[in-house]
Amino acid sequence: MRVKLWGVRGSIPVPGAAAAGYGGNTSCVQVTAGDGHEIILDAGTGIRGLGGEIAGRCRRADILLTHLHLDHIQGLLFFAPLFDPEATVTVWGPPAAGRTLRERLARYISNPLSPLEIRDLGARISFRDVPVAPWRIGDVEIRAALVSHRGPTLGYRLAEDGTSVCYLPDHEPALGEDLATAAPDWISGHGLARDTSVLIHDAQYADREYGARRGWGHSSLGDALAFARRTEARHVVLFHHDPEHDDAGLDTIGDEAARRWHELGNGTPIEMAREGRTI
Ligand SMILES: [Zn+2]
Ligand SMILES: [Zn+2]
Repeated sequence: MRVKLWGVRGSIPVPGAAAAGYGGNTSCVQVTAGDGHEIILDAGTGIRGLGGEIAGRCRRADILLTHLHLDHIQGLLFFAPLFDPEATVTVWGPPAAGRTLRERLARYISNPLSPLEIRDLGARISFRDVPVAPWRIGDVEIRAALVSHRGPTLGYRLAEDGTSVCYLPDHEPALGEDLATAAPDWISGHGLARDTSVLIHDAQYADREYGARRGWGHSSLGDALAFARRTEARHVVLFHHDPEHDDAGLDTIGDEAARRWHELGNGTPIEMAREGRTI
């Protein structure tokens, strides 16, 4: 599997020179399977660039939405394959009582928030609730589970040929649990992330910022490190950067993350998510 980061920011896009290093687009990660399948994690504004790159040559894409907060769906309407009559796009998302995924997304892709309705999209597009049991897209096995955030939110684990990537962009596992001592079954997302090859995890706040934002659905750096340690992730990518953090601030957090990670006795790689990065 090849993982490419197209949007690493949380909450709202951040244009401007001060964010150009890490990138200002909101959450979007491309996973290209060994068999060529394109699986896209979230449809933040980063999906626009991805769509431009694969337009015309990608005839099938699956978009896995963790949840429907705007920073994870805002780019959907700008994803070029959705306008390609030759393309088949399946959008997967969390189930909800009473409203289908299509109906919920249509609250954004409809008048007055959008110039287009979903029926105007040219591709063969379908909307699917994520199943409870693991399922396959091509050779990739996918597992999803509800995780701790604001509103129904999924985390994902994609596995192929003994390697895996776990994606938990909006996640506050420390809410109500001590990550150092809690039993694994009581830690949100642990079952998805355990021993994963690559863990992409929320680290929106510096520790000093977290106190006033407890319960907002995101992790402090310290909690992201504690979660990664408990799950024994083999490569950690810190993700969903706060819009208030410019490149210099993210450099500082990244240096602190590396120092603390190694002080905890970990020898595995850790990095700050950066737009354009491929793993
Ligand atoms: Zn988010
Ligand atoms: Zn969210």
